[in-house]
Parts: sequence; structure tokens; C-alpha cells
Amino acid sequence: MPQPFTRTAPQPGLIRSCSIWRALEELGDFPTLLILEAIWLGDNRFEAICTRTSLTRPLISGRLKSLESQGYIRRSVYCERPVRHEFVLEQKGIDLFPVTMMLLFWERKWSSRRHALAIGITHSACGHETTPVPRCRSCGGAVRAEDIDWQEGPGLGWIVPHHTRRRQQRDRTVIAESAMLFVEAAEILGDRWSGLALRSVFTGLHRFDEIQADSAMASNILSDRLGWLVERGMLKARRYQTRPDRYGYYPTAKSLDYLPILLMLQLWGDRHFGSANGPPVLLKHRPCGGALELVAGCGACEGELTVGTVQLVRGHAPVEAAPG
Ligand SMILES: [Zn+2]
Ligand SMILES: [Zn+2]
Repeated sequence: MPQPFTRTAPQPGLIRSCSIWRALEELGDFPTLLILEAIWLGDNRFEAICTRTSLTRPLISGRLKSLESQGYIRRSVYCERPVRHEFVLEQKGIDLFPVTMMLLFWERKWSSRRHALAIGITHSACGHETTPVPRCRSCGGAVRAEDIDWQEGPGLGWIVPHHTRRRQQRDRTVIAESAMLFVEAAEILGDRWSGLALRSVFTGLHRFDEIQADSAMASNILSDRLGWLVERGMLKARRYQTRPDRYGYYPTAKSLDYLPILLMLQLWGDRHFGSANGPPVLLKHRPCGGALELVAGCGACEGELTVGTVQLVRGHAPVEAAPG
């Protein structure tokens, strides 16, 4: 478990403006993540995005407009007559690359669909097919949740969360799963309220009322999300009181491995929504004592996976053993 925050008291109706939440406000949406993934995989024309993601056309169209106005992508003309566009990642979108690598790290370790992955990645610096691993830039060591200390930073503020009513995002969207790199990881990240509940639990808050005070979520939404996370094996519920029964919610090995995704998202958020006062949260890697800067390491060598050194390899799906 990460060490708890030294934390200022929650303020009614407000949530801590950690960059994870800022990032979740824009990216905590399953279709948005699938569309960004498709563009990253090279399917950057409208029809190709439709085919890869299996999302509906109006949904894709709406999300592309939002991504464009928020500065993740831009349109580029590839045909003059008739005018046809493709979507190109802007720096804000490109900077999500390490987050993508952490999604992949988790998906390969924990997703129930991990054996169906049809796309491999190769690290050109070492020439090996690889899986990303979270590492500390200062010491090069693997980063485990229990080795991280947290502290509130100078840029901490309180914000009013927006309760926008999007369509129910956790309805099962039927997608061509084998064509994607990460689905389950994106499904969890794509539900901003689940992300917010995990953030609270990771920072040492376990009881319903504590999590609620930290996240400003309505009781029914919070109770639904906690139940969903327990069902997915991301949290375990422990009863701490009977008559009436009350439960505390604790991370599992599966969700502790999810922490690097949220931390990478936080680093990205610090860069793109940063406060002039500095980061809202400070992280320390206990084994080396340095400020934690998380990097996406290569699982096959000591190097770092970067946009320019990762190549996708299609058709490397491990064959499932035949039943019986
Ligand atoms: Zn370190
Ligand atoms: Zn490598």
C-alpha cells in the first residue's frame, strides 16, 4: 500500500484538485480512450476508427470533436477532392504515450482477455518483443505501490466536480477486442467515478463515508462503483462493524498494479493542467529516497520505451489451448 497522504480536511462538496482528477475529467470516458487508442494504432481516418472500435458513428463523431477542441488531435487533409481528413495526435495526445504503456502493463498482467491480445510491441533499442514495466527514473528500479510515499504538494486546490450525465459508459460496448491493445484497463479508466474511488482508497481512505467526503460522489453512485470494483477484483470489502454491517474497501494485488496508470496520468496532468504553484501531489520512491518520476521501462532491457522506439507487431496472438 502506498503511504497515506498527510492531508488537509475534506471540504464539503469539493474534491482535491489532484491532476488525476483533472485528467479523468477529460479522459475518464471509455469511447474517448478507444478512439485515442485507434489513432495511436494508426487507424486515424473516420472509417478506420469505426471499424477498429466498433463504436457508433455519431458517438465517434462527437468524441472526435471534443478531442479536437481539447487539443489532443487535429485534422489534416489527405485528399483535396473530395476533401477528406485524417486525425493526427497533437503534443497533448502524444504525451499520453507513457500512460498507454502503463495500461498495457496492467492489461497483460491482469486482464481476463490477456491471452487474446493480437498485437505485440517491439522495442527497437534492444530488438526484443516486450511488455512495459513501471520504473523509477532516479534509480531504475521497478516501482511497486508499497514503495511510494505521497504528500500534498504546493499546487493543491479544491474544485467543484462536474456531474455531467453521459450515457452509461459501463454498458458493454461490443468491440473487436482482439484488435485492441487494452480494453479492460481502459474500461476501468473510462469510468471517472471508479478512478476517483480508487484514488481515495490508494491514499489511505477505506470507509464509505471517508471515500465519499474525499470524492464528493452521491451515495448511490459511490455504492454502485465500489460494488463494481469489488466484482472486478479491484477492491476487497472487509466488514469492520456489525448491526448495521459496515465495510471498509481495500486494494488488491490487481488494483495495486493499476496504480502506475493513475500515477502516469497524474504526471501527464501535472504537465497539461499544472498549477503555477507547483504539483498538487509530491511522490517519493522509498528504496532510493528520490522524487519519483515514473517511466515506462522495457521489460526486456534496462531502457525506456518512448514514442520513437516502440513498434507494433501484428498477429502475434498466443494460441489458446484447445478445450479438453
Ligand atoms: Zn528510485
Ligand atoms: Zn528493450
